[in-house]
Amino acid sequence: MRSGARLCLLAVSSLLLLAASSDTELPLQGYSAASSRIQREWETKFRAIPEPQNQRDYMQRLSARPHHVGSPYDKDNAEWMLAKFKEWGLEANIETFDVLFPTPKVRVVELLEPTKFTAKLQEPVLAVDPTSNQQAEQLPTYNAYSADGDVTAPLVYVNYGTPADYEQLERMGVSVKGAIAIARYGNSWRGIKPKVAAEHGAVGCLIYSDPADDGYAQGDAFPNGAWRPRDGVQRGSVMDMPLYPGDPLTPGVGATKDAKRLDLKDVKTITRIPVLPISYADAQPLLAALKGEVVPEAWRGSLPQTYHVGPGAAKVHLKVQSNWDIKPLYDVIVKIPGSTNPDEWVVRGNHHDAWVNGAEDPISGTVALMEEARGLATLLKQGWKPRRTIIYCVWDGEEPALLGSTEWGEAHADELRRHAVAYINSDGNGRGYLSMGGSHSLEKFINGVARDIQDPEKKIPVWKRDQLKAIADAKTPEERKEARDRADLRINALGSGSDWTVFLDHLGIASLDLAYGDEDGGGIYHSIYDDFYWYTHFSDTDFSYGRALSQTAGSAVMRLADADLLPYDFTGLADTIHTYLDELQKLLQTKQDDAIERNKELEEGVFTAIADPKKTSVPPPAEEVPPHLNFAPLQNASAALTHSAERYQKALEKVSSNGELRVSPADLQALNQKLMRSERKLTSTEGLPRRPWFEHLIYAPGAYTGYGVKTIPGVREAIEQKKWKEADEQIARAASALQDEAALIDSAAQALANGK
Ligand SMILES: [Zn+2]
Repeated sequence: MRSGARLCLLAVSSLLLLAASSDTELPLQGYSAASSRIQREWETKFRAIPEPQNQRDYMQRLSARPHHVGSPYDKDNAEWMLAKFKEWGLEANIETFDVLFPTPKVRVVELLEPTKFTAKLQEPVLAVDPTSNQQAEQLPTYNAYSADGDVTAPLVYVNYGTPADYEQLERMGVSVKGAIAIARYGNSWRGIKPKVAAEHGAVGCLIYSDPADDGYAQGDAFPNGAWRPRDGVQRGSVMDMPLYPGDPLTPGVGATKDAKRLDLKDVKTITRIPVLPISYADAQPLLAALKGEVVPEAWRGSLPQTYHVGPGAAKVHLKVQSNWDIKPLYDVIVKIPGSTNPDEWVVRGNHHDAWVNGAEDPISGTVALMEEARGLATLLKQGWKPRRTIIYCVWDGEEPALLGSTEWGEAHADELRRHAVAYINSDGNGRGYLSMGGSHSLEKFINGVARDIQDPEKKIPVWKRDQLKAIADAKTPEERKEARDRADLRINALGSGSDWTVFLDHLGIASLDLAYGDEDGGGIYHSIYDDFYWYTHFSDTDFSYGRALSQTAGSAVMRLADADLLPYDFTGLADTIHTYLDELQKLLQTKQDDAIERNKELEEGVFTAIADPKKTSVPPPAEEVPPHLNFAPLQNASAALTHSAERYQKALEKVSSNGELRVSPADLQALNQKLMRSERKLTSTEGLPRRPWFEHLIYAPGAYTGYGVKTIPGVREAIEQKKWKEADEQIARAASALQDEAALIDSAAQALANGK
């Protein structure tokens, strides 16, 4: 599902300076020198196994026909992968769930006035692209979980359809009340667009792909280049996943045969208004019919016409009706039992379902995962015995609503909370830089893995390439210094948009998300053109970055599965929490300054004086100046966490001098059990305000950003939404979770000190 948001690696402060890249003399984090040597030998063997040609062959097979949830080829793919895993000697099975998955029955978009035009709503066959003609099996262009509806109304252009865009509309004196909003794709997750439109009184919503964002303004359009052609359409889910993802009928529990299900009418995650995605070829006549003000400069796309806000004479008829059917999901689950600690699980996943043929999203990631599994199977035959249990998962139903991973995570919630060490996700892959996102307790760990993987084109470690890019991209001298001097590259916090969501946000399992990309342009996302032809012409055409992803994620799995001491590190976490706290304080300060400034300008008559009397311009409303908030509990918690992290680090250094790890096996076991709970400590079973499914108090997808992350979300969103009392309460809650985390780390440090 994920799109964009690939690379944003900024490096920071200088904590440790022993980061000599690929220094094979230093023991791996969580290993003694002896066990590290053995581990490195196995990893070296492993990294030689994944084959680009195999990935190419698997992709050709898995993307040969459309394979969305409920389609014959979706099931066929699951069974084929199951057979492959078994052929390699792995223990594998398919777990099924039954979920609500709407598919289109009626789709109409027509311009009724001032002229007549009927939208085609169809992506044409391209002669050069051999799978583009499988129309009988393709899911038509639509947004899954749109409400059914039949509306005729004037049209208003709302830019990207974010809350800020509606504030701008108000200043122009334009309302979407009773209108159909037409938004362009981009800048926020698509599901936010109909949600915000409905909150402002719109009766329908159209989302189109402007060539400025992923079409000819970016590069040559497919089939001449990688970018979206005029009739290309981005399908996708518009479910309110920031409320809860997964099957709408079974929130919080696995959608098994006998699960208790909600009535469809009681479901809160389906949009309130009908919505359809369209191509720019279909959008152009509609946009051309708009009158009213010319849009602000930042709202202009790349179509060869003047963009107007509307409304005017343009009247549009929008009709959407879906088949609201229950469809089966096929999750393929592979289990490699651990030899000494079978009750500690390392979980790895990528989805296999697609909107259509889905070569890039998700098969480029699926095939990397398959080659990893084959690699591990080969090592097992050579005598490798992973200490912990490894579970490989190929999820179904990610595209509609993270269905397969969420239902599996909910069905196995108790076991996962007890046993899971970490979850490692990928979701598609491309050419370019390694992007690393995830829990900051794994920041040092994944930096360590990235130092040992070679970039297939530049022949330098992928970590080094990321670091040099961070130096090149730094916007300030401080950022540049950080990129050079900080021991580890900062990893992105995770919002939502792929299968880590249930593990991290709901179950509190430390998670990572990995992908290569950024040098592989693309505008075929969720269209019929995301297929084998496109991928093998315009993305990672030789699958060398596919091999790099297998090597990266597979090495991470092995290193977590074999470590003597679980390789969490808390100094990076503490440092990150500190930056979040700074951001929150600055956010409040900015809001206060902005409100004071705005009220002053209102008093001075600035807005009325500069308004062009020939245009509509409404002064913004006066703002209540935000009160001061008491950040002290968070400041104290952040300081406590920093101290605990340092104590743990010192205790660890003490027991691991001279390349030894002087902790008895029994003590190690107890310590690992403790450390496994460290991410869980950052959650609360009450969850976030108004969305209790989201239990993590440090990371969550934004209620109004969708994929985009909100860190310390309870506090941040309360400030953004001007809920001051709630902000104070949420500061206390986040602080208490961080204090618990600090106490756990302290007790781990104590255990290390006593054990030696
Ligand atoms: Zn995907």
